[in-house]
Amino acid sequence: MKQLFAIFGNPVVHSKSPLMHNLAFKRLKYPACYTRYLLRDGERLREAFFSLGLKGANVTVPHKEAAFKACDVLDHFAQKVGAVNTIVERGGKLYGYNTDAPGFLKTIKSFPQVKTVLFLGAGGTAKATAMILRDSGYGVTLLNRSAERLKYYEEKGFETYTFENFKPKTYDLVVNMTSAGLENDFLPAPEEILEKAVSSSMACIDVIYGKNTPFLQWAKTKNKPTKDGSDMLLYQGVIAFDYFTDHRFTQTEIELHMRKAFLL
Ligand code: NDP
Repeated sequence: MKQLFAIFGNPVVHSKSPLMHNLAFKRLKYPACYTRYLLRDGERLREAFFSLGLKGANVTVPHKEAAFKACDVLDHFAQKVGAVNTIVERGGKLYGYNTDAPGFLKTIKSFPQVKTVLFLGAGGTAKATAMILRDSGYGVTLLNRSAERLKYYEEKGFETYTFENFKPKTYDLVVNMTSAGLENDFLPAPEEILEKAVSSSMACIDVIYGKNTPFLQWAKTKNKPTKDGSDMLLYQGVIAFDYFTDHRFTQTEIELHMRKAFLL
């Protein structure tokens, strides 16, 4: 019998995950099917998972913390960052993982000279990503519009700034981790702040995928190499698929098939 997988989110209609996973299932001849599920109330995630008879799921905005709470067993990293985007059912228990952060880590490996990173934004995605980058030896600084969300990072020993008290240093890479530009034309910070932030950087990344965001457009005018969030999305999907299929395939072969979703 085919296994069923889904992505939970709100909104979820534009998610590329069903296409990515279904392509890989088909090409790897794995008997499974992946759908999307509009989940309005994160508290209902566990109930929805079991009533749909799922084998596994991905979780997107705004339910990653609800997913963390819904799991019975958490892997070490998901436990540390408090956010789950991948769930696998084993023996009636839900196992939770975070594959967004390792997905981003793999993305920045394409900039091998990068040692120091400035994050614009301090939301949920930045949390897990900042942690994995620091654990992997990168210097991570956070710059956020408002002070509230920075408290978490200060407690964890990160260097943090708001626009008001920003004292720029040298950052090899500047990453837009905000949702500015996702559904609007906003830059993640005022231009004079961005100027200081990227002046010495080798490249700029936006984690928003599939569009030439205002930040990427702006970075190109400064002659910076740029990258959008497509690779992060691809790699988090590859790692999730690896969990879904119990490490039956190599990540290289999963990536080969999943990458085709970005050409369609
Ligand atoms: P959160 O809602 O947790 O955090 C939003 C952050 O954006 C906050 O730091 C907020 O600042 C900042 N922000 C929002 N609007 C503006 C603005 N107009 N100007 C400046 N700062 C702003 O979001 P997430 O961390 O969940 O998601 C962030 C981005 O990451 C989204 O665009 C999402 O699509 C993307 N993403 C991409 C993935 C991929 O695979 N490519 C995976 C996961 C996420 P403040 O604290 O001041 O409100």
